[in-house]
Amino acid sequence: MEKTRKSKKRLKAAKELNRLVVDYYLECNEAKAVGRPVGWMPPMNGAIEIFYAMDLQPVFPENWSPVCAAFGLTPQNFEITDGLGYSRDLCGYLRNITGYVHGEMNDERIPLGGLPEPDILLSPGGGCIPVMKIFHILERRFPEAKVFYADLPQVAMEKIQRHHIDYAVSEMHRLIEFLTEVTGRELDYDRLKEVVKLSDQACALWDEIMSYRRFVPAPFSAAEIGIMFVMVTRQGTQEAVDFLTAVRDEVQEKAESGTGVIEEEKIRLFWDNIPLWYNMGLFNYFEKMGGVVVAETYSAAWSLRLDPQNPVEALAMKSLISYPLVSCVSVEKRKEMVLKACREYSIDGAILHRNKSCVPITLGQMDIKKALEVELGVPSVIIDADHMDDQNFSVAQFETRVDAFMEMLLEKKGHEW
Ligand code: SF4
Repeated sequence: MEKTRKSKKRLKAAKELNRLVVDYYLECNEAKAVGRPVGWMPPMNGAIEIFYAMDLQPVFPENWSPVCAAFGLTPQNFEITDGLGYSRDLCGYLRNITGYVHGEMNDERIPLGGLPEPDILLSPGGGCIPVMKIFHILERRFPEAKVFYADLPQVAMEKIQRHHIDYAVSEMHRLIEFLTEVTGRELDYDRLKEVVKLSDQACALWDEIMSYRRFVPAPFSAAEIGIMFVMVTRQGTQEAVDFLTAVRDEVQEKAESGTGVIEEEKIRLFWDNIPLWYNMGLFNYFEKMGGVVVAETYSAAWSLRLDPQNPVEALAMKSLISYPLVSCVSVEKRKEMVLKACREYSIDGAILHRNKSCVPITLGQMDIKKALEVELGVPSVIIDADHMDDQNFSVAQFETRVDAFMEMLLEKKGHEW
């Protein structure tokens, strides 16, 4: 197996996804060309709906990193970041985006036209340290951009109280005032309700799509998880709802007709932590041994609902909980979520990606490993890698560990190896 490889996709929706990705980045560049204000922001918060409601263009530098990984641009971006003196131990998203914005960011050789320069930066005061530092770097790189310093309480989901929500609501109003001031555009609250309704529909469809993976055999695997692109970049749009409806119909039909990913699904696997964006083909590696990755940590990020009648509070809640649904969550909560997923998706074994460049999601994995074994009798294996840097990943080590792990799981279930 090569170190960098694309995944084999089987859903018809995968083709449509390619078009959506191209259209989104074209739209971002078109916005800049026609003078529609462009704002760069971290993913998974309630600002995206406000941007779409105000006809502003949201751009997600973190999401650009998997695109760079897929197009093989990360080595050159890392080299620039290394040259600027940043440590190679930092988060791969930070290293990639730093190198990208300090390189030939809009060169004609950059796929999809690259990212348009930001008019606005939403600099987060919460989330993990690297995500905050990414925006500090961007502020220095784009001194002309207007900066909104968001201030949200860093509070575990299970500890959110009324005063946290009230404070987040006041921050959403401060954001709306800031955007009105710097763009001269007013927010139409009826339009915001429509956008939040679309966002809520996307979340409901997302949950429904994921629920079909509980079927045995599962109708699609983690190799198709790129569908989350619409949840990151298109929440609050009809386009996202239409795409997810088509995905839902396709996976429902597959699930109900017993059409699995491979002919004979023998082992159901859970993937913990971020995928290796430069080698999504890893998710297909298990298939020759009858293994299918039917659930993963990342997909929990959009398992939430929004009340369109109360849109500002809904977005405040989204901002408080969607990032912690994946990272910045207590070890106890993370353990609870992984165990819940392993129960619900009838998992036989878990792959724990010990991600060198994402400490927040890697923290607590030994506790999770122990809990899986003791409470569910689910064995797990640790894979050392990095979600962005292939230099921190050994194919040989991966194959050796996975082959032995799969052999043990197959034997446990009484299958031939
Ligand atoms: S959560 Fe992990 S991957 Fe995401 S920005 Fe923070 S350190 Fe990087």
